[in-house]
Amino acid sequence: RVSGLDALTGLPGETTDGVAIDLLVNTGLQTDIIRSQESGADGVGLFRTEIPFMMLGRFPSEEEQAKIYRSQLEAFHPRPVTMRTLDIGGDKSLDYFPIKEDNPFLGWRGLRVTLDHPEIFIVQVRAMLRASLNLDNLRIMLPMVTSVGEVEESLALIHRAVYELNDEGVHVETPQVGVMIEVPSAVYLVNEFISLVDFLSVGSNDLTQYILAVDRNNPRVAGIYDSMHPAVLKALKIIVAAGNAANMEISVCGELAGDPLGAVALVGLGYRSLSMSSANLLRVKSVLRQIDSGWAESVSNDLLKLDDPKVIRSTLQLALQQTG
Ligand code: PEP
Ligand code: MG
Repeated sequence: RVSGLDALTGLPGETTDGVAIDLLVNTGLQTDIIRSQESGADGVGLFRTEIPFMMLGRFPSEEEQAKIYRSQLEAFHPRPVTMRTLDIGGDKSLDYFPIKEDNPFLGWRGLRVTLDHPEIFIVQVRAMLRASLNLDNLRIMLPMVTSVGEVEESLALIHRAVYELNDEGVHVETPQVGVMIEVPSAVYLVNEFISLVDFLSVGSNDLTQYILAVDRNNPRVAGIYDSMHPAVLKALKIIVAAGNAANMEISVCGELAGDPLGAVALVGLGYRSLSMSSANLLRVKSVLRQIDSGWAESVSNDLLKLDDPKVIRSTLQLALQQTG
């Protein structure tokens, strides 16, 4: 970590004109907890639950999952912890649950897998709910959502898990539920999702991959994978405009949020909540604490008029240098 940044740990994420920006962390490994706490995060914006599933080498039981989830919830309490339901398939595979497909990124992944296996989904949600007993800081987030029906089906399963537990004498309440916006269809359905859930979070990694039709992990096309592509920025603008108009909490949890330049662009577009790897948090906080939100807005509006991602980056970089 760059020295000098440590002094920012206890300071709020805010722009020079006092606009608060929530800075959250993405977690997965148990070891992420300590580093995240050291960064002074406002909570967890994305807990990638598939990571403990990968580490264990078999499906964890409800009991085992509850223990893992409890440690995240306790570590950050009373700050919110947003747990994503299992997001396997695509680039994230479980050795003990092989999925062989010609087009894994367009195949059986994320919510598609768990809605086809509601027993996996229900056990996971039950574990999360049990872990949250008397803590009240759990939020559940759905990955790879492409349709309204998937959200409705997921909500029904979550309600069923709540009902089951209460029936068993475990008094849990329905937590806040959110949808990840990470495929093009979700961008067009953002208003429908807003009417169904409590929050939205943009997965800019997958959103970039699917908007640009470029594999996020293929080195041959890595040069054209860029979250600052104007098409991606325009999508990000559409999403945040819809969210802000409806007063819906909306954040970004892809890599773009942890890139200081990306974070400035996102704040300029209207985002007020960013979730990132703990390693990037203080650097992002440092940059955001030096900019004015109105200035960022006018810079982002200018960026939206440019055609080339490289020019967009250099324009943003230059604007940032000129502001001091
Ligand atoms: C994303 O797609 O941007 C995201 C945050 O999720 P993941 O990187 O785990 O797919
Ligand atoms: Mg994703």
